[in-house]
Order: sequence, then structure tokens, then C-alpha cells
Amino acid sequence: MATKSDYYETLGVSRGVSPEDLKKSYRKLAMKYHPDKNKGDQAAEERFKEISEAYEVLSDEDKRRQYDQFGHDGVKFGPGGFDVRRDFTHAGDIQDILGSLFGNRGSIFEEFFGGGGGGRRSSRPDNRGSDLRFDLEIEFEEAAFGSEREITLPIMDSCETCEGSGASGGARPETCRQCGGRGVVVNASGFFQVRQTCPVCGGDGQMIANPCGTCHGAGRVQKRKRMTLKIPKGVGTGSRMRLAGKGESGIRGGASGDLYVVITVMPHDIFHREEDDLLFEVPVPFDVAVLGGEVEVPTLDGYARLKLAPGTENGKVFRMRGKGVPSVNGHSRGDLHVRIGVEMPSRLTMKQKRAMKELREQLDETNYPNHRKFRKSAEGFFERRTGEDD
Ligand code: ZN
Ligand code: ZN
Repeated sequence: MATKSDYYETLGVSRGVSPEDLKKSYRKLAMKYHPDKNKGDQAAEERFKEISEAYEVLSDEDKRRQYDQFGHDGVKFGPGGFDVRRDFTHAGDIQDILGSLFGNRGSIFEEFFGGGGGGRRSSRPDNRGSDLRFDLEIEFEEAAFGSEREITLPIMDSCETCEGSGASGGARPETCRQCGGRGVVVNASGFFQVRQTCPVCGGDGQMIANPCGTCHGAGRVQKRKRMTLKIPKGVGTGSRMRLAGKGESGIRGGASGDLYVVITVMPHDIFHREEDDLLFEVPVPFDVAVLGGEVEVPTLDGYARLKLAPGTENGKVFRMRGKGVPSVNGHSRGDLHVRIGVEMPSRLTMKQKRAMKELREQLDETNYPNHRKFRKSAEGFFERRTGEDD
């Protein structure tokens, strides 16, 4: 292992350097070697680590004394080494210097001090309100034609007393003095560091000297908010509507989250929906199917008449173009598929039965070609089998 260079040398200062001059020197070097200004430069990064470590020790009175007495052995880092003290003021110092040089960009610290741990949280607090999901059940008709729905949403909404600022009497929140608005404090000891949510502001980077009495400084309160939703025609189960900025209010004037309305369409007694197509089965009286005629079928646009030819088969499907549900994305419409379900007469009177029997005598195989064909096939099947057995 290479011997460590002297901390004073690293920072280019004499042993008797004053804290002010030490800080000045560190500032200058940090500016020069900061990873943000030397992207991809390994040597610069190493150098930056060295100067930060040196400054970390020498800027702390106790550590500096130990270092002066015992050298590097006096300030070992890492497990079993130097105790990491919860010294926020001190850690804040390095952050403040870097912050003033490069702006309060948490990313620098994340990347540089992250040490492979992966960014846990942005050191700049996010005041944006949460996105919300609202599940809405609507009727088939509302989905097909579109509608307006009044909903009530339990929601964190902007506080009216302080207009969302969280401060009473029109005062503005100030940047937290402890963390400089970053919301976290880093207690760096060499390159082992402890990141903590700022104990003063609780992580949001702002302090309120005189909090609003209604929201206790949060700038938002729990409300039951009524709003009108415009449901576009053509939505289906699973459709998601995004209402930008209609989610939770941000903390202390932060941006609002979005509201996502997720649609479930209730089933309909008649219409079964598949995408933009509709289908249903219409029961057709036996005699109409046999003799031909008209049936009335419901559509989204009112009743339509369906002409049936004589001898219409059970299960036959009629397609009515453009009579389905409007497409939610365009001007097209799906189709309506109507399946014929021939209904046999039931509860026949004696007279009706007699008439049926008379009809039966009139009918023969030629009236039922499918029946005849099927019987022929079945007979052929058994004949072949008998032949094999012999
Ligand atoms: Zn703070
Ligand atoms: Zn308030």
C-alpha cells in the first residue's frame, strides 16, 4: 500500500495554517479537481478524494490534533477505525463549500460519494405531490357515449389559509440553514460517510419560522375534493385518463402530482363488448327463421330492422358495419355483430301440437339437407368398420 501523503502537503498549506486559510486552499483545490469539471479523469478524482480527506481531518479541531500527534495512525478510517461522529455542522461545511462552488446539486455527492451503494435518495428534496390513482366504474352507456362524472376525492390539497406556503401571515419559508436546502446532511469521514435526513427540516430543505396554524407548516391539508371528470366516448375497461396536476398538492408550493383515473366499464344486459365491436344474440321465433321476416334489434343509435331470409339458420351472425362503439382515439367505429338464436316454441296447446304433427307429415329428408348429410356420413363410418372386422 502506498504511503499516504501528508495532509498539509496535500492541501498545500503549512502546519500552522489558520482554519480560514485552510478553507480557502481547499476551496481552490476542490474547484480544480472536482469530478464534475474533470469528467472521466481518474487522476483528478483520486486527487479530489485526497484533498477532501485531508480537509475533512484538518478542518476538524479534534481530528487535526490527533493527526498532528500521531499522524495518519491517529485518524484511521473505516470499520474499527475512527469513530464517525454525528457532527452535522462539520459535515455541512464540506457540502456548503462544494455547494457554493457547483450549486446545490445533489448529484455530485451521489455520484462521488455514492461508493457503489447506488443513489438512495436525491439529496435535493422533491416537494412534488404524489400521483394518485382513482378507480372509476362507469356504465356501458357512459363508455359508449362519453359522460361527465362528479367524483369526490380524499386528497392532500393546497392549504387555503397560507396559500400553500406553510408559513403564517404571508411569510415565505426560508432555506434550511442546517442542510443548505439539500434535505440531507453528510457526515463524511474520509470516504466512509453517513448520509442522514436533515434533522432540522426533516428532509425538505426548507424551514418555517412561523408555521401556518391550519396546515402546521405543510402547506397542504387533507380534503375531500369534488371534481368533474369528462369521460370521453369510447373508453373501455382498463382505459387510463391522466389529469396533469390534479393529484396531490406539492409540499409548500411544490408542483402537484397527476391524477390517473382508471376505468372499469360495467357489463351490459344485452351488449357484449370486444374492443370497439359489440355483439349479442337475438332470439328469433322459430316460424320467423323458417318463413323469413324481420326482427328488430337494438343498436347504440336506436332500433334497426334485420331482414331474415326464409330458412335462416340458428347461429348465423349478421355484421352491421359502423354500429359498434366509437374508437377512443379516432373517428372510426367498431361493428355490431348480431347472432341469430332460433327459439323453439314451447308450451304448445293441443291445437298447436296437432298443427305441428300435420306439418311433420308434410316434411321429409329433403327439407333437412344437413340432417341427411350427417346420417349418410355416420352410415359410411359404420359400414367401413364392419368391412375391417371381416
Ligand atoms: Zn435541513
Ligand atoms: Zn397552511
